[in-house]
Amino acid sequence: MSDLSHQRSADPAAIEMLNLAEKEQYETIWDRLEKQQPQCGYGQLGTCCRLCTMGPCRIDPLGEGPTHGVCGATADTIVARNLARMAAVGASSHSDHGRSAALLLKDVATGRNTDYRITDVEKLQAVATRLGVITEGRSFPEIANDVADIALGCFGKQDETPLPFTEKYLLPKRFQLFEDVEKQLLKATGKKMGILPRGIDREVVDILHRTHFGTDADPLSLMIQAVRCSIADGWGGSLIATELQDILYGTPTINTAKANLGVIDAEWVNIIVHGHEPSLSEKVVEMALSEEMQQAARKIGAKGVNIVGLCCTGNEMLMRQGVDMAGNVLHSELAIMTGAVEAMVVDVQCIYPSLANLSTCFHTKFITTSEQATIPGAIHIQFEDEHANEIAKRIVQTAVDAYPERDQGKVYIPSITSSAIAGFSVEEILRVLGGSVAPLIEVIANGTIKGVVGIVGCNNVKVKQDLYHKELTKHLIEKDILVVGTGCWAIGAAKAGLMNLDAQSMAGDGLKAVCQQ
Ligand code: SF4
Ligand code: SF4
Repeated sequence: MSDLSHQRSADPAAIEMLNLAEKEQYETIWDRLEKQQPQCGYGQLGTCCRLCTMGPCRIDPLGEGPTHGVCGATADTIVARNLARMAAVGASSHSDHGRSAALLLKDVATGRNTDYRITDVEKLQAVATRLGVITEGRSFPEIANDVADIALGCFGKQDETPLPFTEKYLLPKRFQLFEDVEKQLLKATGKKMGILPRGIDREVVDILHRTHFGTDADPLSLMIQAVRCSIADGWGGSLIATELQDILYGTPTINTAKANLGVIDAEWVNIIVHGHEPSLSEKVVEMALSEEMQQAARKIGAKGVNIVGLCCTGNEMLMRQGVDMAGNVLHSELAIMTGAVEAMVVDVQCIYPSLANLSTCFHTKFITTSEQATIPGAIHIQFEDEHANEIAKRIVQTAVDAYPERDQGKVYIPSITSSAIAGFSVEEILRVLGGSVAPLIEVIANGTIKGVVGIVGCNNVKVKQDLYHKELTKHLIEKDILVVGTGCWAIGAAKAGLMNLDAQSMAGDGLKAVCQQ
């Protein structure tokens, strides 16, 4: 076993695949990181600015060299502008996801789209009631139409009032706190700075405008706007995505699945869905599991079609459909290297462009589907919600057709999986607790457990894969702190066996007792 592989990942399946990559000379994201060394120190610290063509400008944090950019921006201004722009990119990505869900709900409600349906009417009514939509005596499509309109309004509204979703979902105390902070900022600085978001798109555009070289140079107001934009996402776009997807595809309930590369099965046609938005993958899963497609796979000598998830699309499929999980984002190249993946189907976000090139070493069809995420070298099958069934079928058929091209000599699948229990939506947590959070509050108040921590976040190739996800979680549960999470953390935790009942043995006495109640 190579030391290098052990330095790169804490996941035994990844280590096996990294050894294979080294032997077969498959280039990985870790190799490319190495080739980039040493990375520019200015860029790493954020004291480099490329916002206009008078630059790039660099400020030496050690005080040697220029202290201002060409326009006069200080290091603090430059760092704040860069960070604000990163917040804008993150907010726009996740919020665009919410926009897609709102547009789809609108189309379903008005009958323009018949490939999808309103699955969870209870959730629809709960969301509508929270938003102040009248539900009595009205049909579900009528209610859904109003909910979709309110959601879409959050993106483009132009007045100064807070987003309806933010206003209706934030705890009153928290809402009040944000209002108070706005007042205090005005009092202390004489400048108007907002925390409560007015429009999701507006807060993103505000950052792009504000970070123009000749607009905002005050690190404080730049950072406050970054906070406002982040809230527009967290209490706007991302919240809309969660709520409306539950209405469309069903609110997650507890289910079990397997996680890690061992879910890829050498005897089956393997399809991996990867990315973030479930509208495509819901349909690909449905089609892949259809008798028609299973039969098509059997006809060409496979046992059937095996569909597995990767990254956050994988999380969505795991939570709602119990689909097995191949891994988090750093597994995307490693999964293709198993040589047993007929198709990797992607939507948006966290798709390495390298996957197109790597796929050419195998028979794998790397299929992009979004107009926002096209990648040179990929097969592009344009996904459109209104023709979802037909397109999903074409995608699955493409995978089935690729199976005979598989080179069995290149197949290597680490036989490593862990079992995971997932699907803890807010509604499911409440159901498990007997309808109220009171039992949880009680065990926190009496000190049996010390609190609850939410962990989200991606793999970053600069950090040993899954190491911090695993170690942080172990330390927290050992100290009687309950952990909930999503994103790549959830997959890392699932692979490490931290999301099944055996994990109780690693918990402190208090948390263990609560788990066993
Ligand atoms: S543009 Fe910035 S990050 Fe890139 S090399 Fe120049 S100083 Fe470094
Ligand atoms: S905005 Fe200012 S600091 Fe940034 S590149 Fe232009 S001149 Fe340089």
